[in-house]
Formats: sequence, structure tokens, C-alpha cells
Amino acid sequence: MPDAVAGPALVIQTAFLGDVLLTTPLVEALAARHGPVDVVTTPAAAPLVETHPAVRRVIPYDKRGADSGLGGLVRLARTLQAERYEVAYLPHRSLRTAVATWLARIPRRVGFADGWSVLYTEVRKRPKDGHEIDRLLALADVEGSRARPSLHITPDDRAFAEGFLREHGIREPFAALAPGSIWGSKRWPYYRQVAERLAGRVAIVVVGGSEDASLAAEITAAVGRSGGRAASSCGRLTLRQSAEVIRRAAVLVTNDSAPLHLAQAVETPTVAIFGSTVPAFGFGPRGPRDRVVEFAGLSCRPCSAHGPPSCPLGHHLCMKSLRVEDVFQAIEETGALHRRD
Ligand code: SF4
Repeated sequence: MPDAVAGPALVIQTAFLGDVLLTTPLVEALAARHGPVDVVTTPAAAPLVETHPAVRRVIPYDKRGADSGLGGLVRLARTLQAERYEVAYLPHRSLRTAVATWLARIPRRVGFADGWSVLYTEVRKRPKDGHEIDRLLALADVEGSRARPSLHITPDDRAFAEGFLREHGIREPFAALAPGSIWGSKRWPYYRQVAERLAGRVAIVVVGGSEDASLAAEITAAVGRSGGRAASSCGRLTLRQSAEVIRRAAVLVTNDSAPLHLAQAVETPTVAIFGSTVPAFGFGPRGPRDRVVEFAGLSCRPCSAHGPPSCPLGHHLCMKSLRVEDVFQAIEETGALHRRD
């Protein structure tokens, strides 16, 4: 049932970048009910929501840096108390942010039963199955959506991304590759080979953070040797500028990581390569032209919720068994290299 509240609602999501993007349909649903909402998130994720029309204000909470420890928690609670929120939605199972809303005396604190129920005033059941977007929407009693993440890219973001592409002589159509992941077991090892194969047909842009720059350099160098054109935006573009590059790409090839969700937000056909995790966890792509590449017949798969830093069995067959040909076939199936929408 829609809630009647006087003040702005608060949403707290301090998990990974992808989780913040997957929370945007919940933010939109709550904004439709309460008006633009305030969001507490990490400084890294703040750019993903600070320009969003459903968001009034972003409150950064640097839980692993400047705001770590009890002092940072109390500061956050004081900030929230000063805003006099009437309701806080807590999609993330985070003890510290649940404590912050309790300390801030926010009268309604809405969370999932598998979180910190004792600190909430209203508890919702988190659906076991389905896409994570829909599971999060259950916090607002919204059922059965086909929603996608959303993101507001500014004209400045677009102009900067355009300048980057022009500087590197990249013209459309081009393919974007996102070979990184903070979890090593989720990295498919053959992006260089697929880039070399694609390079005869389209230009390549490798997207990612600065931590992916050396991997990207190997890919762009290999493409250059094969006579193709490639550029790396790793560490050179912000998240929203990267999203703009992905938006302009004909297709994104990615692991189960944040760029997958950026591509979903900007509706770029996506080839998602899953290794130690599986789409059934609820984090897969959901567009009609998207494809998943995975090795279905491996008994050790999936081996953890996030994917371990490296293969606990040492062989990493979940990824090494996926051939360049398999990924290339999936790219072909998106139709992205054959037509322009
Ligand atoms: S244990 Fe299996 S699923 Fe996990 S990383 Fe190794 S090969 Fe992949």
C-alpha cells in the first residue's frame, strides 16, 4: 500500500556499484510515492545517483575510509537525525546503516526479514528467486516488474565521452569490452583474443577502472598489432562518462560486474560471461537481445555468492572452458554487429 509521509524518504544502499544501480528501480518507485528521495551511498557510487531525477540529495558514507568506525557511524546518524526523515528504506543487509537509522530515531525503518529485523519497525520478506531488481522492489511492495537500472548522463558527460572517442579515432559502430572484476574468479581470461577477432569488423573500446589499465593495455596493443583500432578508457573516464561510451557501443562484452549493469541502464546489447557465479543469483542481463555465456556442466559451479578472489580448486575451468568461439557466437546472436537501432 502507498505510504503517506510528509518529509522526503531515505534510501540507504552502501553495497557495490552494481548493487546501487540495481537499486535505482526501487528509488524510482519510492520517488513516485514520496517525491524525490535522499540516498546514502558510498563516495564511489554517488555519481551513479547524484544526477538521477528521482534523487533529491546524496549523502556520501565512506564506510571503509573517512567514516569507518564508531565515529563515522555517529556522524552519519547525526546527519540523518537533522534531516528529520519519517521513513528510511534499507535494501542492504548492513548492520551499521541499520544502527545509524535507529540512532537517528527515524520513526519508520523498513528492511528485509533476512537483515536486522530487531532494528527495523517494518519488515518485508525478501523474495528468494527472481531478478535482484524485483527482489529489491519488494521492499516497496512492488511485484513482478521488468524494470532495468537507470542512470542520468549529463550533457557534460556526453561531451567528455565524445571528446575521448574522437581523440582516439573511434567511430561507431564499435564494441566495448569490460574485462575486469574485483573478484578474480569472475574474470574471463580471453578478452584479448576476442578483441583481435572483432578488430577486423569494428573498433574496440576497453572500459573499466584504473585497476584494469594494464589488462586493457595488453588488449589495445594486440588489436593494434592486428591492424585494428582500439582505445582504453580504464581510469580515464568517470562512471557516467563510461556509461556514455557503453551507450554508444554496439555491444558490451563483460563479466558479472558493474559494467553489465551500466549497459542495462543505457540499453546496450550485452554479452555477459558468468564463471563462479550464475545468472540465477539474480544479477544477469534482462534485455531481449542480451546473451549469457556460461559453462553449465560443472559441478563446482557456483562456488560462492560473489565469486572468490581465485578458483579454490585451482583450475578455473568455469571460465577457461568458455571459448572465444562461444563468446563470438553470443555477440553474433545479439545482432549488434549487423544492424543499427
Ligand atoms: S571452484 Fe569451480 S566455479 Fe569456483 S572458480 Fe573454480 S572452477 Fe569456477
